Amino acid sequence: MMLRYFQNSVEPVLEYSDQEEFQRIVDSVRRHLQRKERAGIRLLPRRQIGKREPEAGAKMTLLSDLEGHLFSDYGAAYKAGDLEDLRDAIGDCRRCKLSSGRTHLVFGVGNPRAEIMFIGEGPGRDEDLQGEPFVGRAGQLLTDIITKGMGLRREDVYIANVVKCRPPENRNPEPDEIASCEPFLIKQVELVRPRVIVALGKFAVQSLLKTKTPITRLRGIWHDYRGIRLMPTLHPAYLLRNPGDKKLVWEDIKKVLAEIRSPSA
Ligand code: SF4
Repeated sequence: MMLRYFQNSVEPVLEYSDQEEFQRIVDSVRRHLQRKERAGIRLLPRRQIGKREPEAGAKMTLLSDLEGHLFSDYGAAYKAGDLEDLRDAIGDCRRCKLSSGRTHLVFGVGNPRAEIMFIGEGPGRDEDLQGEPFVGRAGQLLTDIITKGMGLRREDVYIANVVKCRPPENRNPEPDEIASCEPFLIKQVELVRPRVIVALGKFAVQSLLKTKTPITRLRGIWHDYRGIRLMPTLHPAYLLRNPGDKKLVWEDIKKVLAEIRSPSA
């Protein structure tokens, strides 16, 4: 979107200009915006809801598990200074067997400084085809939760998944696939540094919290993910099959809204 706006704004001017320096600047800005779009950043952030500076302790918690990867295949990801660097570091990833069946690697999308980060399980068919998380029917429901329920734009939050490539037949990701992709998610969380993570559905919740406890006992209660508050809730795809449980998700979302609006949060 940013890139399209830029092209529409600048290219008519270029028709009347042959200044090399101007062309170089335009090309440089275009490349910059292309990197941003590849990293899922479609709009510049519009509003922050009392964004806090990161706490030193929380930063150490997030980085600690990645330090062992500094000289590994994950070294560039560990050192990434922003989401664009991280996306570049992931590249055309072949680190696990999910790479063989994907159409697109689904990195993540949204505000790189979001207050709220939604994390789902992995891309489905629509997401794999479009290269963006939560764009199918379940994604539309998540968008409704964000816009109609929370009063935010989809671009105000950040959305990612536990694994970035679609598991075949939408099966659950396997432990080795989660382990291969986990450093990328940890780094993504560290770079966005949201105040709150909303984990969507049993699989994402159990993977992030490293537990087998049923989601019915986890949801609606605050948990900790590497120093960041995490609220488990039901997956939008589950809600499509069980619309009567939407009220449970709304209870969880109200707690999230109260948390980010709280000055002491
Ligand atoms: S799921 Fe993650 S680790 Fe596996 S190929 Fe995709 S990006 Fe790489």
